[in-house]
Amino acid sequence: SCCGGMEKEKTFAMIKPDGVHGNYSDKIKAIIMDSGFSIKREMRVQLDEDTVRSFYAEHSSKSFFPSLVKYMISGPILVMILEKDNAVADWRKLIGPTDAEKAKVTHPQSIRAMCGLNTEMNCVHGSDSIQSASREMSFFFEIMDTHVHQLSSGEEEE
Ligand code: ADP
Ligand code: MG
Repeated sequence: SCCGGMEKEKTFAMIKPDGVHGNYSDKIKAIIMDSGFSIKREMRVQLDEDTVRSFYAEHSSKSFFPSLVKYMISGPILVMILEKDNAVADWRKLIGPTDAEKAKVTHPQSIRAMCGLNTEMNCVHGSDSIQSASREMSFFFEIMDTHVHQLSSGEEEE
């Protein structure tokens, strides 16, 4: 196993607004646990525009960026830190390809095939590298106060 008995690899996962709104959170968390991940941290948040722009800065020049921003602020999300050996690659494999519509054909067992709709509304996020995982975990779980409005349980979205 990795890391000489020290910490296992961690990755950053998110259930996006469509996934939360569609009541997929518990189902996705069950799949996560059944797949050998442990959920080390978990937080429900409401993103604002500036936070999405910062989180998805690498896509800021893309034509779909304004639409992506609107989608990502459309409701609460659930952010998590997942841990297991090979967490980054294994979580990407489990969520499937970006285009959920194609995923239903090519990766029918994937999470995006289960709860995604198209290439934008694909219900979950996963870090694409160890470097991204480190950045994204810090973004939400270390400097979150500067970024996000954390929702307490039962708090309504506005
Ligand atoms: P992934 O989430 O699989 O890493 P990307 O990093 O390429 O995919 O894109 C980030 C997110 O932006 C996607 O998950 C999706 O929500 C949205 N997105 C990507 N490509 C498109 C597109 N062509 N049209 C609309 N939205 C897109
Ligand atoms: Mg990506």
